[in-house]
Amino acid sequence: MATYEFQCSACGPFDVVLPMGTASPYRDCPQCGKPGRRVFTPPHLARLSPALAGAFAREERSRHEPEVVRRAG
Ligand SMILES: [Zn+2]
Repeated sequence: MATYEFQCSACGPFDVVLPMGTASPYRDCPQCGKPGRRVFTPPHLARLSPALAGAFAREERSRHEPEVVRRAG
């Protein structure tokens, strides 16, 4: 498995864990459902990215603070 980073124009960066070689240039944003654009990040940098670390900790963190969910319309 590999982590791929995407950028939503509305919500900002998010990442998706997929089997190697299966990532597409676009991926639906988990928050608003709009297609996010693939961001090509060197693996060693992605591993240090706060956004990436935040994604891994999201489930844990949501127990302490409510997650902001944007709703269109
Ligand atoms: Zn979004």
